[in-house]
Amino acid sequence: MKLDLKPLAQQPGGVLPFALQADLSGVEWNGARPFVQPVHVEGQVRNRAGALELTARLNTVLSLTCDRCAGSFQREKTVEYGTLLAFELANGESGDIVLLNRDGELELDELMREVFLLEMDTKNLCSEDCKGLCPGCGADLNVEPCRCQRETDPRWAKLAQLLEQEETDQ
Ligand SMILES: [Zn+2]
Ligand SMILES: [Zn+2]
Repeated sequence: MKLDLKPLAQQPGGVLPFALQADLSGVEWNGARPFVQPVHVEGQVRNRAGALELTARLNTVLSLTCDRCAGSFQREKTVEYGTLLAFELANGESGDIVLLNRDGELELDELMREVFLLEMDTKNLCSEDCKGLCPGCGADLNVEPCRCQRETDPRWAKLAQLLEQEETDQ
């Protein structure tokens, strides 16, 4: 989707709303494809005293894999974004401005893709207190108890008991 911003630039106080769905289903993230649903984008460009100001809200539901227990889960993610737009960079201006193309248009899909991908988390947990998998027996500690204890060699069981005894005695 391209936004032609030449008319708005001549119209102080004017507002140009937009809405689109960005398809990121082919995008790989950390070796997976979390974008099973499109990213819904709603926003507007406002001419504020001659400056073009873009604000947008991006929202989707991601399909993710937990880094601790390897379970699949879904999580809604919303990104609020804002930037200034310009036809060209004036002297001394920093790079915090998105430039329009030669025809005074904004490539909206491309920008929204970049914005959303920059906000993706590098770590994903199905829940903050996910217990993960036991490194010993591989049990998913969220749903089953660790089996390491039960697999203890009986010859050591006596010793373990003694150590426990000692601890409680202290
Ligand atoms: Zn987990
Ligand atoms: Zn275990």
